[in-house]
Amino acid sequence: MKIPFFDVTRQYAQCKEEIGSIVAEVLQSGSFIGGKYVRDFEEKMADYLGVKHVLTCGNGTDALELALQSIGVGPGDEVITTPFSFFATSEAIAAVGAIPVFGDIRMSDLNLDPATIEARITEKTKAILPVHIFGAPFACDEVNAIARKHGLRVIEDACQAIGSSYHGHKTGTLSDAGCFSFYPTKNLGAFGDGGMVTTNDDDVATICSALKAHGAGKVGAQAFALLHHETPEDYLPQNATGDALYDPYKYYNFLIGDNSRLDAIQAAILTVKLRYLDQWNQRRHQLAQRYLDALQGTSLRTCCNYEKDSEAVYHQFVILSEHKEALADHLQKNGIGVGAFYPVPLHQQFAHAWHQHPETLPVAEKVCKMSLCLPVFPELTNEEQDAVIDAILTFERG
Ligand SMILES: *Cc1c(COP(=O)(O)O)cnc(C)c1O
Repeated sequence: MKIPFFDVTRQYAQCKEEIGSIVAEVLQSGSFIGGKYVRDFEEKMADYLGVKHVLTCGNGTDALELALQSIGVGPGDEVITTPFSFFATSEAIAAVGAIPVFGDIRMSDLNLDPATIEARITEKTKAILPVHIFGAPFACDEVNAIARKHGLRVIEDACQAIGSSYHGHKTGTLSDAGCFSFYPTKNLGAFGDGGMVTTNDDDVATICSALKAHGAGKVGAQAFALLHHETPEDYLPQNATGDALYDPYKYYNFLIGDNSRLDAIQAAILTVKLRYLDQWNQRRHQLAQRYLDALQGTSLRTCCNYEKDSEAVYHQFVILSEHKEALADHLQKNGIGVGAFYPVPLHQQFAHAWHQHPETLPVAEKVCKMSLCLPVFPELTNEEQDAVIDAILTFERG
């Protein structure tokens, strides 16, 4: 039996008709950028998450950059983050000109250890950017308390955590802004790239919506005013009237932003898939529970001691093994796809060499040597999962 690590085609088979008809509707509408389907998705997503603003954008990496810039992070600032994540997390900090400063992670859930944050705060620190890694909510209360005490902002990288919750609130709504990705293999995946920033803060929303569209128009002027503590009236064109041939504000630009948007076809597809998200996440949960039960008593560590009163969405199911390479080899020989997230801790990435601080991060470094991810996508069957478990148990018996 061949068991893939992930198979996006199975999910498509499940909602093929609905997706086919909504994509045809979008094509017929002729509205491919912005418009009704994007607005509709943003509204439904805001409802689902229980958040005031949803600002769709091109991908999760853009979402992180937009969110960082919208809280004023830029050159000379430091942002404290986790060393155990996809590269985009720390890359986004560097891409807006700031310096990523890495805390260490903890074994219980592989998230940024709040106990390692305060020692890294300097007068340059502007924000904390933890990740809900593999869909497990990080310790939001502790992080928010540290941020409040030191006057810092918090951004959640929730790219792997759509649908998870912490103390009754969805992740991505627990701080100044949440960042999400709709990369095809994420828990809510588009048929291409996509992302969003979520926030309850009106100012963050204004600046984000300006930045994702060239800093143009009225919203651009408002965003400039917010970032520079001025009033937007000073910057709006005086001669602009409503009866011009074209929107008189549109070609006035107030900020160096970007072009980052979710197109209408992706938004329509995601609107359909959003209806299935909870069901898919429940299935991931069920699969994770079956792994946890089956692997009890083995030498493997599972790191699923999550925060109290929280729900994880198992974007990945990770095991830590002293014999990671040999185990991965054994599983692959048995036709089982595995992932190695993440083999290199971010503070040791070549691209960060120029802002690397000399200290070692023992937990992250150890976890990177041991972590292996097993198939956990919602369409994986029990039979397939049993074959994965059998192969692991055979290896364990040596
Ligand atoms: C996927 C991911 C991103 C980046 O998302 P893209 O849409 O691929 O740009 C950022 N952070 C984390 C934790 C991710 O898993």
